[in-house]
Amino acid sequence: MPAQGRERCAADAPRTAVVGGGIAGLAAATALAERGVRVTLFEREAVLGGRLAGWPVELADGSTATMSRGFHAFFRQYYNLRGLLRRADPGLSELSPLPDYPLRHRSGTTDSFARVPRTPPWSALGFVALSPTFGWRDLAGMDPVAALPLLDVRVPDVYERYDEVSASDFLGSIRFPEAARHLAFEVFSRSFFADPRELSAAELLVMFHIYFLGSAEGLLFDVPREPFPQALWNPLERYLGGLGAEVRTGTAVRSLRPDADDTFLLDTDGPIERYDAVVLALDVRGLRTVVSASPHLCDTAWREKVERLRSAPPFVVSRLWLDRPVAADRAGFLGTSGFDGLDNVSVLDRWEGEAARWAGRTGGSVVELHGYAVDEGTDRLRMQERLLRQLHEVYPETREAELVDARHEWRADCPMFPVGGYLTRPAVRTPHPSLVMAGDIVRTDLPVALMERAATTGFLAANALLRRWGVRGHPLWTVPREGRSRTLRTLASLSRS
Ligand SMILES: Cc1cc2nc3c(=O)[nH]c(=O)nc-3n(C[C@H](O)[C@H](O)[C@H](O)COP(=O)(O)OP(=O)(O)OC[C@H]3O[C@@H](n4cnc5c(N)ncnc54)[C@H](O)[C@@H]3O)c2cc1C
Repeated sequence: MPAQGRERCAADAPRTAVVGGGIAGLAAATALAERGVRVTLFEREAVLGGRLAGWPVELADGSTATMSRGFHAFFRQYYNLRGLLRRADPGLSELSPLPDYPLRHRSGTTDSFARVPRTPPWSALGFVALSPTFGWRDLAGMDPVAALPLLDVRVPDVYERYDEVSASDFLGSIRFPEAARHLAFEVFSRSFFADPRELSAAELLVMFHIYFLGSAEGLLFDVPREPFPQALWNPLERYLGGLGAEVRTGTAVRSLRPDADDTFLLDTDGPIERYDAVVLALDVRGLRTVVSASPHLCDTAWREKVERLRSAPPFVVSRLWLDRPVAADRAGFLGTSGFDGLDNVSVLDRWEGEAARWAGRTGGSVVELHGYAVDEGTDRLRMQERLLRQLHEVYPETREAELVDARHEWRADCPMFPVGGYLTRPAVRTPHPSLVMAGDIVRTDLPVALMERAATTGFLAANALLRRWGVRGHPLWTVPREGRSRTLRTLASLSRS
């Protein structure tokens, strides 16, 4: 529950710097500005959005497109992220549903979530009943006792019990069938950009809880109707401006120095400025760089936590503008497994207005390929060619297509959630009362992940400061912290006894 308190800050409202203009920073800035705090948002890049930033590119045919790190699924369980977006788009009219989330394995089987019931436990049982990959025989082959924890994931207890185990060892221990492992579960772990041998089993179990047994929304999601800046960040930036917040893009914060009265001196390219409070909403590399340049910030234990954070291996997003359409029945998004490093294929012109207009004008199509957890040192050109060859396998009609243009984004800016990493991750509060943290790297005791963790910790960071100033915080929503089915909870308790 948010703290009780005044509705808004008084006239001499605290000056607060929010550092980082991704989802976490935008959530914190919005939540503070709505309560009358004087907010300045600093973003190193020229545009807002962080990992969901978009920027214009000119294509070989002379048209302009918006490039980005591409496809993101806005799941229906992302209550706080949706709450943030509603500030600028109350009806969420900029999001539209994709009818299904098919997952295809190289062996030829395809799983789908569209017809799976959404009420637990029928969601999990329905998946088994409808899945060609995971049948009743597979279910019978699993180790029932070892698998009990799946039935009632409790957050944060799950971290105490399973953070020291790798996702892949956990799946092995419950005898989770190999083919299904690649699909239903590996898809989750790869969405953390990690090899399941290195990912904490607790993170995987939290994902299972969020999508299967802890919520009724299932694995269905929405996507933006237009590129991220047009659909999401430009309207939110206008909303922030309307609240009096100042947005400084193209401005990297170099360092922070704690000063008298719990204030901070903030160093950018411009003159040093004083702030009453700071929200650090950075990616791993950005955070480590700022903290190492700020030797007086917090204590050794906290600094060591930041120092220990690691980024997940590189990933590539290849966007291809093809001279012909893909087959009419291709899904807007397809998760893939066993296709030599290809993790998913999106047909952007099925759901993004800008891509659809280009495809309509040219008779072509806009296809995006994602490859996660690429080995360091991999030859980039070869990897891009490999992904294209895999597209030819998955959608054979693309074999004859000419590339009108292609853009490849290679990055390594997603956090790693390694085995045993939970307790050493920094939390929202820091040893300094007016310095708080937000972002998908930040530890929280709530069942949230990825974009929703970024949004939720952004609001939590703002609430922590508001509470300090005696101002009312913002209510937050998550899926329940434990399984929704009493019967399954009782069964799972056997594994704890
Ligand atoms: C290809 C891809 C696909 C994804 N798909 C999904 C998905 O389907 N569903 C999902 O939920 N999540 C997905 N994610 C994860 C999601 O993008 C992140 O969880 C989320 O965007 C993190 O937001 P953030 O605000 O914590 O961090 P970021 O977005 O990284 O924001 C940090 C910001 O800090 C800025 N910064 C760094 N240093 C400084 C400095 N010194 N001064 C000022 N600014 C600085 C950076 O430029 C950046 O804008 C995906 C990620 C990628 C890359």
